[in-house]
Amino acid sequence: MADHISDGVLQEYSLDKLAGLALAAVEEHLLICDQCRTWLDAIEPVSYVHFTEDGPIYSRATLLMEGKVMARHWGKELAVNKECGSVSTARKYLNEYFAKMFPEHKCDGRCGPTREHGGSGPLRTTVERERHTHGPAREV
Ligand SMILES: [Zn+2]
Ligand SMILES: [Zn+2]
Repeated sequence: MADHISDGVLQEYSLDKLAGLALAAVEEHLLICDQCRTWLDAIEPVSYVHFTEDGPIYSRATLLMEGKVMARHWGKELAVNKECGSVSTARKYLNEYFAKMFPEHKCDGRCGPTREHGGSGPLRTTVERERHTHGPAREV
């Protein structure tokens, strides 16, 4: 009866390809549907944010339906992605890349998964919104 999010849409969501109404519909559904959150967790073995001097840097691995894994980093001035053959390769790539970019970084209490398992954590858009609110103000 319930209209769950399809694999394809969930994958697009994880890759941040959704926008506008489609994005809002997915987020709204995730708020009320444990099952879809579980599916999302399953295709997203890594979803992490580090708060660095350059602002938040996100790391995420997404399982693609073709069996590959997309490893991505993004932040204010950063957007890289790399297709990996497995989750462990993606995880390793993400860790090594981040360590190379921010050798001085030490995780503090703010770093962590973008979304706690079980849905108690902030949704991604909430994190994004906070970044826009508290981030560096547009210089006029
Ligand atoms: Zn659902
Ligand atoms: Zn960190």
